[in-house]
Amino acid sequence: MDKVRLGKTELMVSRLSFGGLPIQSVDRDSAEKVARYAYDRGMNFFDTARGYTTSEADLGRALAGLGEKVIIATKSYYKNMEQLDKDFKISIKNLNRDYIDLFQFHIVNYEKELQAILEKGGPLDYLKERQREGRLRHIGITSHRPAMMLQALKTGAFETVQIPLNYIETEPLDKLIPLAASLDIGVIAMKPVAGGVFTSNRAAVKWVLQQQGVVPIPGMCRIEEVDDNLAALNSPLTPEELAALESDKQELGTIFCRRCDYCMPCPNDIEASYIVRSGMIFKRVGWDKMEQDHIDAFVKGLTCDQCGTCASRCPYDLPLTDMVIDESLAMLRKAVEYGKLSEEDYNKILKDAGKNEPSEQK
Ligand code: SF4
Ligand code: SF4
Repeated sequence: MDKVRLGKTELMVSRLSFGGLPIQSVDRDSAEKVARYAYDRGMNFFDTARGYTTSEADLGRALAGLGEKVIIATKSYYKNMEQLDKDFKISIKNLNRDYIDLFQFHIVNYEKELQAILEKGGPLDYLKERQREGRLRHIGITSHRPAMMLQALKTGAFETVQIPLNYIETEPLDKLIPLAASLDIGVIAMKPVAGGVFTSNRAAVKWVLQQQGVVPIPGMCRIEEVDDNLAALNSPLTPEELAALESDKQELGTIFCRRCDYCMPCPNDIEASYIVRSGMIFKRVGWDKMEQDHIDAFVKGLTCDQCGTCASRCPYDLPLTDMVIDESLAMLRKAVEYGKLSEEDYNKILKDAGKNEPSEQK
């Protein structure tokens, strides 16, 4: 596979690289197999995070012994020294290496977070010290807010920036990517398939591959997904695929779930992220694949006490505090329409939860 230069890091990374978030959802053996499969087919750049539970250690095992043939990026949420130091040491151990290729500050969405990173003697200086020791090669930053990253890149503190880029989220193309190019900062495109909301993931990846100066890292946890992404490399986006992406975009608007699961866990064990994207899943696979346990998830969703914890963690500011109950009600109504739940049981569920029909909700 062609390699591209990741800005001033001078790292030469595969044109299409590996997003390591989803492998946390499969068992260790499957995670290692899929990462190794991707490597064997030309991917040499793997992105993970301390926050992706098992992903970092699974990649460390899968890619052990490959040395400089692979480039692994990881990240930490922490902007305080004690926790950052802890994370850095865990990452080195998990990745099975003497050094980390790229360590990124994970999700820097607000100015106060950026200021905390840049503080004299703070997190950035901590990572620079690791560079001097030879335990870290490059420092990057990630965010879901392009405007915030414009500010971050102008500080000159970061060698890479990771940002969502897909057919719906195109804001980085206006100013951020040109600025990164002028400063020779590498751009890593997360969420090229926007959490799987497009009719065709392959078309969505092709579109991101068409953009200049970015390295897409679609998340993968199955061999078929690796193959599908590789197929995107080898054929141009067709007018039909572009029209389908546009139609998906018109249908989705801007308020939709990207499947990142940052909103989880819920203190009341409600599957908030599943519930808020259930309407979309229903559209894709229909009720036949939505069995009783899904209905149970919606019933549980009605117990949401609207504490706001999930909403405060969502980087896309989705109004989850209302959405969890509204979507649960809407999906239970659909369950009745599709014969998965009797009218009688439905009325009892609503009565027990003290809720009204969806149309009567605000
Ligand atoms: S608002 Fe509801 S779903 Fe979200 S964390 Fe609180 S209880 Fe859980
Ligand atoms: S609701 Fe927000 S935080 Fe939760 S999975 Fe969706 S996009 Fe991510």
